[in-house]
Amino acid sequence: MKVSDFYGRLVTVQSTTDLRLPQVTKLPAIKTSGKQLYCQRCQQTFSKERFHLPNGADYCPYCLQFGRLTSQDSLYTIPEPNLFPVNEQPLSWQGKLSPLQQKCALILKEQAAVKKEFLLWAVTGAGKTEIMFPTISEAIKRKERICIATPRIDVCNELFPRLQQAFDRTSIVLLHASSPMKYHYSQLVICTTHQLIRFYQAFDLLIIDEVDAFPFVNNQLLQMAVAKARKPVSSLLLLTATPTKQLLTKIKQHKLAFGYLPLRFHGHLLPVPRIMTLPNWRRDLLHYQLNRRLFKALKDWFAAGLPVLIFSPEIRLLVEIEKTIKKCFPQLAFSSVYAGDEKREQKVQTMRREKYQFLITTTILERGVTFAKLNVVILGADEQVFREESLVQIAGRAGRSLKRPTGEVIFVCSMLNQAVKRAVKQIKFLNRQGEKISNENLSALSAKQY
Ligand SMILES: [Zn+2]
Repeated sequence: MKVSDFYGRLVTVQSTTDLRLPQVTKLPAIKTSGKQLYCQRCQQTFSKERFHLPNGADYCPYCLQFGRLTSQDSLYTIPEPNLFPVNEQPLSWQGKLSPLQQKCALILKEQAAVKKEFLLWAVTGAGKTEIMFPTISEAIKRKERICIATPRIDVCNELFPRLQQAFDRTSIVLLHASSPMKYHYSQLVICTTHQLIRFYQAFDLLIIDEVDAFPFVNNQLLQMAVAKARKPVSSLLLLTATPTKQLLTKIKQHKLAFGYLPLRFHGHLLPVPRIMTLPNWRRDLLHYQLNRRLFKALKDWFAAGLPVLIFSPEIRLLVEIEKTIKKCFPQLAFSSVYAGDEKREQKVQTMRREKYQFLITTTILERGVTFAKLNVVILGADEQVFREESLVQIAGRAGRSLKRPTGEVIFVCSMLNQAVKRAVKQIKFLNRQGEKISNENLSALSAKQY
């Protein structure tokens, strides 16, 4: 192992013979406090009796996926030394921010410089990634270590090449369960929020993108991992297009500073979903039929050459949807995709290259993906799997490109529910704010107004 593998990390080693490093700190992996045990890697507490091995050791049940940690193990760490080269002009990105994006970027930069916690609420398609660039650039100049973490692997995979290109003289690594890269010490880290469990006081700037997404939202273990991965003096930037109630409450209580960007990068408003109440849509599918209204909408879109994402509330419905669409539109090229699909990335790429007319998906593609000229249908938008945040995110897949900055979205429901109503209300609210705002005026919205 290299010395740098220990910088700002909690590392387990098989043999300690090669560990005669003066700076290394050794911590017991599991601490005992009476009948309770505490894991120093994932910071969870658990009872002594329940997680016992035949050899007498206890193990942590919470972070097993990172390798079993027992009371006989130790964790090794070296304080983050920020050993990064001088880099006076780190940003290689040639693009230009709109005046509104610039103002937002300036606020983020100021917050990061004074090591604050800050939430940016920017609508889907506002260009959050590019808005982060000036902040990251300044941090690199200060030789800080920077992490962009997000709950979703797809989002990591989208972010990585963009960051790599935008900062082509800066060391960077992509970390998640199926990442092709191995860990190495780097100034920029793109990872899933799960990976933060392995870090210890590493980051001067930690950005959590899509902070409202599963599995991060309401997950105490991951939220504690964020706190542990930051240096004691550091900034935390939270990015979201759909803040949760908890975040809005924190804003209301003045516990979290926040900025607000209600316009997309191209200045167009968000598509407002059309609601189709079709109580028999599931029954129709079992007969491989589509309701006439839905059929007509799809036919018009396909005739106009517009690609479509169709969201299914369940994996097991994917086959029925495929068969139905094939029967109704036999001439079209398409596929379906779900979380465990081995060809998932390949299919997403094929859709991106416009080789499919449509792709049927579960909520795995609810965020982080951009397809040009897209229209969207959600089947069963009133089903539990689609929370208000998911519905706003999915609707936000449409109209993202300059080629076609508008798009159409259909929510197919058996009946109207609160999540659907609130999602449409939120989109209309954001559009009203977007209409009000001019490029000269970045308004700060108080949570009370919302
Ligand atoms: Zn643990």
